[in-house]
This record gives sequence, structure tokens and C-alpha cells, in this order.
Amino acid sequence: MALTESVPTAPPGHEGILRRQAQRESAARTYARSLPIVPVRARGLTVEGADGRRYLDCLSGAGTLALGHNHPVVLEAVRAVLDSGAPLHVLDLATPVKDAFVTELFASLPAELAENARIQFCGPAGTDAVEAALTLVRTATGRDGLMAFSGAYHGMTTGALAASGGARHTAVTRLPYPYDYRCPFGTGGAHGAELGARWTESLLDDPKSGVPDPAGLIVEPVQGEGGVLPAPDAWLRRMREITAARGIPLIVDEVQTGVGRTGAFWAIEHSGIVPDVLVLSKAIGGSLPLAVIVYRAELDIWRPGTHAGTFRGNQLAMAAGRATLAHVRETGLDRHAAALGARMLTRLRALAAAHPCIGDVRGRGLMLGVELVDPAAEAGPAGELPADPDLAAAVQRACLDRGLIVELGGRHQSVVRLLPPLTLTDEQAEAILDRLADALEHVRTLPPGPRGGTPHTP
Ligand code: PMP
Repeated sequence: MALTESVPTAPPGHEGILRRQAQRESAARTYARSLPIVPVRARGLTVEGADGRRYLDCLSGAGTLALGHNHPVVLEAVRAVLDSGAPLHVLDLATPVKDAFVTELFASLPAELAENARIQFCGPAGTDAVEAALTLVRTATGRDGLMAFSGAYHGMTTGALAASGGARHTAVTRLPYPYDYRCPFGTGGAHGAELGARWTESLLDDPKSGVPDPAGLIVEPVQGEGGVLPAPDAWLRRMREITAARGIPLIVDEVQTGVGRTGAFWAIEHSGIVPDVLVLSKAIGGSLPLAVIVYRAELDIWRPGTHAGTFRGNQLAMAAGRATLAHVRETGLDRHAAALGARMLTRLRALAAAHPCIGDVRGRGLMLGVELVDPAAEAGPAGELPADPDLAAAVQRACLDRGLIVELGGRHQSVVRLLPPLTLTDEQAEAILDRLADALEHVRTLPPGPRGGTPHTP
């Protein structure tokens, strides 16, 4: 597996595999369109393609790979289960592997939640855990409606999609999420966030607002797919107060922000809020599929089978997940992510100063975003410029040409997202930013207008 081994010069099937994929796979495929590579080996930050090229992977399985690819502690944990003769599939039965996972997970949670928590193992995707959270609060409150935010992303199953910003038909009440660069109130900053909080209060307290009391309010501490928007801590505390005062369960979706990604083990630690329901997936499975909700025991009044699923007992994922959680805890990778992320943000700000096409840079920990805009267009009321998705696609392609895998996100697919593994070194961070800077320099020389590229939805 050593990446220092000599790399084959003749691509073994690279073109053919991509051609067959284009012929056989769905038109709805996503990353595969904008990232035409065929990974054959990977370790840490590095992915090696069937074309013999190496890439620095800042997509990390859409934020899943806290420890990067094939981290030794993960491989060891998986091998230990395989060698032990333990069953790999057990529905939701108790096993020593599951017991150890839950113990490690609960030890990582804020004490106030862990002391009185229940856990539900869900089907293996984040979206299934979101569905479980919605069913849980609907059952517990006897209410039906939901409050969710503009720009949110919670998954692709019916309930999770309805709660997301891309929803078309929905009975979900949409609330404004703080977004300094494109503040819906034209003010940004703490004032913009406070106006959003007041709007939420007013909808809940005005008997004629047209919004019945909801079963819950669901929020991401940092909107990831929505364009890397960290919620201000004070605003999240306001959301906690508003919901607590009115008996509305607060669901925090940490599918993407969890396990050190934002520079704290859980992103809720930044604000100190304790949610009623925490939705977890991605990194908790140590690169394998796993999803759970952890919630206050008082909500646990649903009946057996209210939320079920065949694949709730993935032993390999639980072992890989336990190893990942323990490794992040033992080595302080969350604090490392905070410090390194802050240094990367400083360098990204310098890049923004040199490139008028960068409208904004932002992030928390190792969840970073660079919003690309059209500098030739007319600015909006708060100085914001229109998003430039074509330019973003061109930057993504130029990055790939330079051996750097980045993801696009945001309302208009114009935010370049960096989600490197938490194990990233200073040297690797420099290499990533050098390649990004070079890609930005390159697109500067391209003629304006559509620069090609493929639309990409997460
Ligand atoms: N919630 C958040 C915050 C996410 O970022 C995602 C996936 N990007 C999901 C839920 C859905 O997870 P999955 O794709 O595993 O269904």
C-alpha cells in the first residue's frame, strides 16, 4: 500500500473505466462528473488514480474521512473484527463491538447530554438519521410541522429533502440562516443574525403568523453544502433559548461538522449549547457507513419499530468509528484542526486580497470555503457581488489538473470547499494552498463567460 512504490506509467484501464461509467451509470451521478478520476490506492491525504497521477484529496468523502484514507488505526480496527470471527451483520442486536462504540461515543459528548441520553442506530446514511430525528420529535410532541433554514442540507430522502434548502414542495417553515456576505437583511454581522432570531421568535409568538408550533427545529452548526457558513455562537445560543422556552425540540445536524472537523470535537461545543437531538453520520463510521441519533431520554416514547432498517448493525463501521473517535480524542486532532484551519484561513484571506474574483473566505477548523464571484458585475446593497458558478467550475478543474481535489458547494455552486483530513500537516496545507493559488492564477488568464464545467449537486 506504500505510495512510494513506483507508479505504473501505462494507465491500467483509466479511460475505459471512465467511458464505461459514463455509459452505464445514472445521469444523477454527481462527483464523478466534475472529478473524472479512477482512484485505485489511497493513504492519508493522497489518492492515486488509475492514470498513475496522485491527488491531494480535500473532499475527504464529503467530509467523512476525519483521519484521511486508510489510516492505520482504522485498518487495524477493521482487521481485528475480521480476524475475530464476529458476525458482520447483526441487525440491531447487542455486540461487544457496538458496546465499545457507544461507550466511546457517549464519552465524547457534552456530559449534560450523555448523562441522560438514548441512541438509535439508523440505516447507514446521514439522511436516514435525519428521518429518524424527525419521526422522534413528531412522535414525542404530537405535532407535525418543522422549522429549518435557507441553504440547509440534510439529505435526499423525503423528510430530509423537505428540510433542505433545495426543497420544492414542503410544509417546512423556512428561517433565515446567518450569511454575512449575502445577508438577507442587508446588514450581516451580529445584527443580521439577531434579526433572523427575532424573525423566528415572531413567527412562533404571533398567533396569526400562519405558522403552527412545530415538532422541532433543525439546524447545522456550520452549513456545509450550503456554502460553508459557520453559525455565530451567540446566534446558536439564541436558537437554543428560543426553542427551549417554547418546548420545541432542537435538532442539531452534525453529520458533517462532527468529530473534530470544526476545531472542537462536536461543533456545538463552540457555543456550549446542548441540543435535544444530535444527528451523526459520516466521520463516526471511520470511513464506513454508520448513522445514529443521540437524544434526551424524555423524548424516547416512540414504540418498537417506529424507525427501523436492515442495515443498522454494521460491525466494521462501528469498529472503524470507535477507533476514529478514540484517535481524535487521544491525539487532540480537534485542537489541531482549529489551529491549522485558522492559519489556512489567514492565507486564504491574503489570496482574496489578491484576487477580486474571491468575494468571501470563511470557515471553522478544517471546513473552509472560498466564494467565487464576478468582479465585473454590479455589487449588491452590502457590497456583495453575484456568484460565479462557471468560474468556480473552472477553478475546480484547474485544481484537478494540478493534482488537487476540491468540492464545490453553496447556493450557486460557486463556493470552493476544502475539507482536508484532520491529520493534515502544515506542509500539506501549504501544498494545498499553493495549488489552489496557482489554479486561481490560471483561471485569471481564461476569457470571461462560460468556461465549461459540469453542474454538480451534492
Ligand atoms: N446532513 C448534513 C449536514 C450533510 O452534510 C449531509 C451530507 N452531505 C447529510 C445530512 C446527508 O448525509 P448522507 O449523504 O449520508 O445521506
